[in-house]
Amino acid sequence: MPAKTSFPADLFAGHRFAVLGLGRNGTPAAKALASMGATVQAWDDGEAGRKALESWKSPSGKLTVAPFENLDGFDALVMSPGIPHILPSVHPVAAMAKAAGVPILSDADLLFQAVRKSGSKARFAGITGTNGKSTTTALLAHLLRHAGLPVAEGGNLGPASLSLPLLPDNGVYVLEMSSYMLERLEQMHFNVACLLNLTPDHLDRHGDMAGYVTAKLHVFDHQHAGDLAVLGETLPDYETIRRRLAVTRTTIACVSGADMPQCDLYCTPDALCDHDGVIADLRAAHDLPGTHNRENAAAATAMALHLGMPWAAVEPALASFAALDHRQKTVGSIDGVRFINDSKATNADATARALACHDRMVWIAGGTAKAGGIEELAPLFNRVAMALLIGRDAPALAATLARHGIPQRIVETLDRAVPEALDRARELGADVVMLSPACASFDQFSGFEARGARFAALVHELAASRDGTARA
Ligand code: ADP
Repeated sequence: MPAKTSFPADLFAGHRFAVLGLGRNGTPAAKALASMGATVQAWDDGEAGRKALESWKSPSGKLTVAPFENLDGFDALVMSPGIPHILPSVHPVAAMAKAAGVPILSDADLLFQAVRKSGSKARFAGITGTNGKSTTTALLAHLLRHAGLPVAEGGNLGPASLSLPLLPDNGVYVLEMSSYMLERLEQMHFNVACLLNLTPDHLDRHGDMAGYVTAKLHVFDHQHAGDLAVLGETLPDYETIRRRLAVTRTTIACVSGADMPQCDLYCTPDALCDHDGVIADLRAAHDLPGTHNRENAAAATAMALHLGMPWAAVEPALASFAALDHRQKTVGSIDGVRFINDSKATNADATARALACHDRMVWIAGGTAKAGGIEELAPLFNRVAMALLIGRDAPALAATLARHGIPQRIVETLDRAVPEALDRARELGADVVMLSPACASFDQFSGFEARGARFAALVHELAASRDGTARA
C-alpha cells in the first residue's frame, strides 16, 4: 500500500453517525467522520462545543449540529468517554441508541474500522491500567520510532484517536485506553495489548471492582495466537486473568518493575532483564526513575520487541526517553540543584512514588488535600530536608510534618516557594527540589498542568536571574 496520511474522502459514504459530546474526542470524531464522507449529526448540551463545530466548514456538507430525537437509521453513536451509558445512570441519548439497536462505539473502534477499510494493515497497540498509561504509551511510541517504524500515538492522552493520520502497513497505532473507552469496542483488535496494574478507580461508572476489571479486560478482546498480552505482575487475580487469556492462545508476558526473575521481563536496580539476562542497562534512563517507571519500561519494551524492535536498539531508546510533562520531569538545574516537576501527583499515593526516588530533597507540596492528607507518606519523610508548603491546605500538611519532626514552612505560593527552595537546598545540602504536591491544584490553578507550567517558568526565571543553567 502506498504511504498516505489522510483517509479517503468517501470511506464512510452512505454511513450515518451520531456524535454526542463535543469535547476533546467528540469534535475531532465528528470532523473526521464527515471528512471520510459519512453523514454526521452532532450535539452537545453546552453551547461552546456546538459553536466551535458549527464554525467548521464540513468538506462534504454532511455535518449537522442538532439535538437527537431518536437514533433510527444510524450506524453508531460515538459518545464522549465522560458521558455514562450504563452507570451511574443511562444518558437519554444512550437509551435512544439501545432502543434503536445502534451500537455505542469509542472513537478508537472507528479508527480501527477506518484503517482496515482503507486497506492498511497497520498494527494496533492498546495500553491500559490504573496508573502509568500515558507514560507507557509515550514510551512505546518513542521505542518504535527509534526502531524506524511509522507511529501515531494518542487516545486518552490525546490526540484523540480519530485525529490520527492513516498509517501504512508497517505503521503502529499506540493507543492509551481508559476503562470508559474500552467499554465501547466492537471490532478493535490490538496486536499487542497491556494491562499494567489495577487499583480501585471510577467505581461509580463501573459499579464495583469486578465491573472495573471487566471493562479493562476488553483490551484483550479479539486477540489470538501471534498477538501479545502484557500483564503487570501486581495485578489482583493475576492467575485468573492469565488462565482466561491462555484460552485465546495469545502469547502472555508478565512484567515487573521489581527484581522478580519469575516474570518474563523484570528490573534489577540497574537493568531490564529477561530469562536470558540483561536486555538494557537502565542507569542512563534518567527520565524513568522508580519501580513504577521500570514497570512501564518493561511493559513498553515487551510490546516493542514483539512488534519487531531489535534488541540492541532498546537501551539507547530507553536512555533518550524524555518524561512527559508534569510527571517527575526535570525542568532545570541551578548550581547542581535539580528542579523536578511532578505536578501530576495530586494525591499522596502518586507523591510516594516520587519521594522514593530521591535521598534528600527540598519538597514543595500543598493545594487541596485529599482525604487522609499526607500521613501515609510518613515512612518517606526522612528524605525531606525541608518542606515548603503552598495552597489552601498548607496548615494541615504543616501540622502532619511537624508531628513527625520534619522542618517545614508555609510559603503560600509557588512564586515564593521556588526561590526559597534553592536557598534552602544549598543551605541543607540537598541536590533536588521537587514539586510533588500530593494535592489537587484548583485552589490556586486551573489544573495540574497550569501548576507545573508555572513551576517550570519560575525555575527558568530563577536560573536566568542567578546566571545558572536551565534545561528546557
Ligand atoms: P495515567 O495516564 O495512567 O494517569 P501517567 O503515566 O500519567 O499515568 O502517570 C501518572 C502518575 O502515576 C505518575 O506521576 C506516577 O506517580 C504514577 N505512576 C506512573 N506509572 C505507574 C505505575 N506503573 N504504577 C503505579 N503508579 C504509576
